[in-house]
Amino acid sequence: MRRKSRVVWVGKVGVGGDNPVVVQSMTNTDTRNVPATVEQVRRLEQAGCEIIRVAVLDEEAAAAIKKIKQSISIPLIADIHFDYRLALKSIAAGADGLRINPGNIGDKHKVAEVVAACRDQRIPIRIGVNSGSLDKRMLERFGSVCKEAMVESAMENIMVLEDMGFRDIKVSLKSSSVLLSLDAYRLIAEKVDYPLHIGITEAGTKDRALIKSSLGIGMLLYEGIGDTVRFSLTADPVEEVWAAYELLRVLEIRQRGMELISCPTCGRCEIDLIKLAEQVDGTIRSWPEPLKVAVMGCVVNGPGEAREADIGIAGGRGFGLLFRKGEIVKKVPEAEMLDELLKEIEAIKQKSSSEG
Ligand code: SF4
Repeated sequence: MRRKSRVVWVGKVGVGGDNPVVVQSMTNTDTRNVPATVEQVRRLEQAGCEIIRVAVLDEEAAAAIKKIKQSISIPLIADIHFDYRLALKSIAAGADGLRINPGNIGDKHKVAEVVAACRDQRIPIRIGVNSGSLDKRMLERFGSVCKEAMVESAMENIMVLEDMGFRDIKVSLKSSSVLLSLDAYRLIAEKVDYPLHIGITEAGTKDRALIKSSLGIGMLLYEGIGDTVRFSLTADPVEEVWAAYELLRVLEIRQRGMELISCPTCGRCEIDLIKLAEQVDGTIRSWPEPLKVAVMGCVVNGPGEAREADIGIAGGRGFGLLFRKGEIVKKVPEAEMLDELLKEIEAIKQKSSSEG
């Protein structure tokens, strides 16, 4: 069962409570470069990204938020370290949320100014604890980086905001260690009801990060922990969004995107199935309709093994069989297998969209 959390609003997107688990990402462009940032955010929007975060390193970047927001439609979060003036400027430029740790801002009056501006504009603050940058006090107190130190650091930051009567808070506790992340999120989940932003940070290059993140984020979501998700990949951020939906679909939490069922191939396979499966995957990957598509290596076992697929193809010697829900509908020459399959998928898409 999903953990009960309070709802905070990032622009028009509700995070926490019964809202769907929100998919977010972060741009890797120079935020000051408005056209490049807008272009990337639009690609992310198309991939289904629901909240975008941008790094705000200076005043020019904070000011750019205003222009970026004019050209995008998803809420934007300003990611700031230390400098409260950048927070104020980002809020004035229309940011829909902040990621800043009040403990890093310094003087109380500076924190109070940021909190007052957030309250005025009704925007939330994410407290983001990162195991790699835990402050020295915590390390001295707990002796090492551990879940207790991470949670205590988050609690201190939460307390600063709560003392000012501010509760539009999200929390993240990231580490590049999956096990530490799991422990830390489980611990904070028992202590507060703020929505949790979950992810495994600095998880590595794409393949490695996909394994780490899927394991860490997947286990948390399976336990009902997590209200918004970010996959951190050393890759194009569009891949992060795709990966997040793939995981949410696998866990049957959300239904965006096509599932690809393909066999591992064996000695019975007489076509270049790996190539075909990759071609199909490359084409359907960005299609949002929740269909199951199968690409199987032989006509004897393929249609039956992929019976749950809405549509599929199984390769024989020089030909392929198109099948729907395990029933063979058509025989096609090998060279036309890809096109025929894509045509069939299009037909199903059209039919389901006309049926509303
Ligand atoms: Fe082998 Fe055919 Fe099964 Fe693929 S579908 S693994 S080729 S038996």
